Amino acid sequence: MVVDTLARLVAFPTVSDRPVDGIAAYLAERAEALGMRVERLDSPMPGKCNLVCSAGPQGTDGLVLSGHMDVVPVEGQPWSSDPFVLTQRGDRLHGRGSCDMKAFLAATMEGLARVDLRRLQREIVLVWTHDEEVGCLGSRALVEQLAGRPLPSLALIGEPTSFQVLRMHPGHAAARITCVGRAAHSSKPDLGANAIRLAGRVLDALERLADEWRHDVRFADMLERPFVVMNVATIRGGSAINIVPDRCVVEVGFRPLPGMSPEVLYAQLAERACGVDAENVTAELLRVTPSMLTPTGTRLEELLRPHARVAELGAASFATDGGNLERLGMRTLVFGPGSIDVAHQADEFVPVDELHKAVDVVAEVVARACGEA
Ligand SMILES: [Zn+2]
Repeated sequence: MVVDTLARLVAFPTVSDRPVDGIAAYLAERAEALGMRVERLDSPMPGKCNLVCSAGPQGTDGLVLSGHMDVVPVEGQPWSSDPFVLTQRGDRLHGRGSCDMKAFLAATMEGLARVDLRRLQREIVLVWTHDEEVGCLGSRALVEQLAGRPLPSLALIGEPTSFQVLRMHPGHAAARITCVGRAAHSSKPDLGANAIRLAGRVLDALERLADEWRHDVRFADMLERPFVVMNVATIRGGSAINIVPDRCVVEVGFRPLPGMSPEVLYAQLAERACGVDAENVTAELLRVTPSMLTPTGTRLEELLRPHARVAELGAASFATDGGNLERLGMRTLVFGPGSIDVAHQADEFVPVDELHKAVDVVAEVVARACGEA
């Protein structure tokens, strides 16, 4: 049954540049069939929405279960079968999103069917988001959409962690740096100003900053790279071999740790980049996905522990919607079926037994967190 549900979810090709209203309508229908209240929160982007479903006494402090409805693209990947047709080979279920993270969505709908939602003492709230894979845009919108609404203070995000409980992750921020030069015929380069060479000097300055960041070590007990990581991600400049380029644009990502201000880090980055040539280099902060840090000892941790594959709480290297849920006042843990190592790749899969286990976990955790009487 949960396999059928997962197959239905995988069949919606919800790559982030495509709509999610189809899968949202299906999930809404499933939640309504369970007797849940359903709210669809539309985005100004066409075809995009967040979905909030709830049951139990409104405004009571139960539990939030959260996941994203979108998936990453499949283009150029060597899939062995149609990525949008869930395909079982051996004990694995393959399909785009099978692991990241429609397995958790399917397990939630099946797990809740085993709980008598009419008898809950505290509220269960499902938060399904759009555009997580392109910068947690849906959950960022939720911060305003749900502001002022009383929500449970504990949240579980079912990202694939192979059932390890994760309680922190760095954030992610993106910046764009534009270097401006002056075009000239390449036979007379002295009449122009080469924007690509200017960008080269900017990259050197950024590498020095990245090195300084590497020496500011924090959370060494939890992170493999316990510092702010920087990645020069894209560069675009020049139009023809015989023209001195007048423009070069560089995009840079960096990952602020909990407790650090992304804006302060960006200000350092902008200062270094623009410091190379203040007249011809400009910088802008494109977007910020907040970091997440949840204290140990929450009630949710206690409920997840018996199901955890390893006793230690860990950190994710990737960002999740958890940073935005934290801004809504939730203490969030990340825990779910499937491995992040196969996510985003060709032949992504979730092991069948982990999918079934996730159904059991959801049923038990909800019954205990929300007090099925
Ligand atoms: Zn994910």
